[in-house]
Amino acid sequence: MSDTYLELANSALGKKLFSAMGLPEPVVLVREDSQQAHNLSGQVLIGASLGALFADKVGSFLEGTSMQISDPLVKEKRHLIYDASGIATAEQSAELYNFFQQQVKSLPACGRVIVIGLKPSAAAKPEQGAVQRGLHGFIKSLAKEIGRNGSTANLLLVDKGGDAAIEAPIRFLLSAGSAFMNAQILTASTPVAPMAGDWQHPLQGKTLVVTGAARGIGLAIAEVLARDGATVIGVDVPQAEEELKAAMTRLGGLPLPLDITSAGAATILRDFCSAQTSSLHGIIHNAGVTRDKMLSRMTDHQWNMLMQVNLGSVQRINAALLETELLDNGGKIVGVASISGIAGNAGQTNYAFSKSAVIGMVETSAESCAARGITINAVAPGFIETQMTAAIPFFTRQMGRRLSSLGQGGLPIDVAEVIGFFVSPQAAGINGNVVRVCGQSILGA
Ligand code: NAD
Repeated sequence: MSDTYLELANSALGKKLFSAMGLPEPVVLVREDSQQAHNLSGQVLIGASLGALFADKVGSFLEGTSMQISDPLVKEKRHLIYDASGIATAEQSAELYNFFQQQVKSLPACGRVIVIGLKPSAAAKPEQGAVQRGLHGFIKSLAKEIGRNGSTANLLLVDKGGDAAIEAPIRFLLSAGSAFMNAQILTASTPVAPMAGDWQHPLQGKTLVVTGAARGIGLAIAEVLARDGATVIGVDVPQAEEELKAAMTRLGGLPLPLDITSAGAATILRDFCSAQTSSLHGIIHNAGVTRDKMLSRMTDHQWNMLMQVNLGSVQRINAALLETELLDNGGKIVGVASISGIAGNAGQTNYAFSKSAVIGMVETSAESCAARGITINAVAPGFIETQMTAAIPFFTRQMGRRLSSLGQGGLPIDVAEVIGFFVSPQAAGINGNVVRVCGQSILGA
């Protein structure tokens, strides 16, 4: 579904009109070029506090990319990375302030701000941990100030052992793939598996399952994974078999028409995967439904049916896969939650319960997964332009779009790109993360 307001704001006449009327003018976000995905370009300025731990490493791996490291004294448009890990006192926070106060105006349209800090529990002293926690508030506020030109600000926290794992998240946050990920906090921890991989085609030779792959976000996920080199096993309900087969034929994938709530579905899925490969690289639990009703009017069917699609089947499939060693040593599990599961929403007690439980699944399983070399993470999409959101009444839909700092809804590919990052082998230090893909929607933030 097209966003007429965004289109108008970016037309020649609309630009004049909107600016004369003082209306917000959201920017069309730059997204990955499918022929040259993961290609980093442009200028980047790297700043660091005294005693910063990671800036040198960031500089050296970025020198190996097609990005230019910018000189602070030269006036030019550039992305900004700041290593704040050395900041340990209230007074030292002025170093962060000085850097951004001087440099924030040099951000290009759709620019990137990345701040690197320490996970507060990994700081040497509680006082430093508290000061590092301040970076959350800083990044969330700065994201609100720079969003109007399509720029984003995100925070990478480094846990103990996570210094080995910072390259993948920094590259992803600098890339066009992170266009709609805004004001988020990623944590890098000790990698759970080897991180070797090709940056352009990280999933070459890998097989992954995507549920709900016939349309919407699931189809976009399948497309991104295939673009990155993967063979996708696409699962969807038998009623969607035709679309599923067409999509999988186009992407060189394998269709598996299957209602994931049907009896024995988890075993059928697992056996299908085992027949294709002895080492499944990952599963993306994307299939999901809404059955909105105020609680007092909700039927048993609306609660129970939704819970089986969004939660019960996800748990059964994980259990079936984890009974085997299919995912061990490098496998990836990704859940698809929702900001409804974080913020809550009237008429969505069932949906929000299920999506909150998907977040719970990540929180409670990360440690046991890590012990087997598996990562488990989730995305929590905000307003994404799909058939699901096209069904929302007109005014609510407009509100949903404008409530984000980027002033627009996201596209299915925005969610897919974050998932593509989670499942890349180089992201083996990204475990137990839940990332909102919502352009910094004010809902539940
Ligand atoms: P969609 O309705 O367009 O697609 C969902 C797909 O899942 C469909 O192809 C459907 O056939 C499939 N599916 C449903 N039940 C199934 C079952 N029992 N077995 C197998 N497949 C099944 O929805 P979408 O907007 O693409 O959403 C995808 C995911 O993203 C869902 O989990 C949804 O909750 C989540 N999400 C979407 C948004 C949004 O704004 N669109 C926001 C937050 C979260």
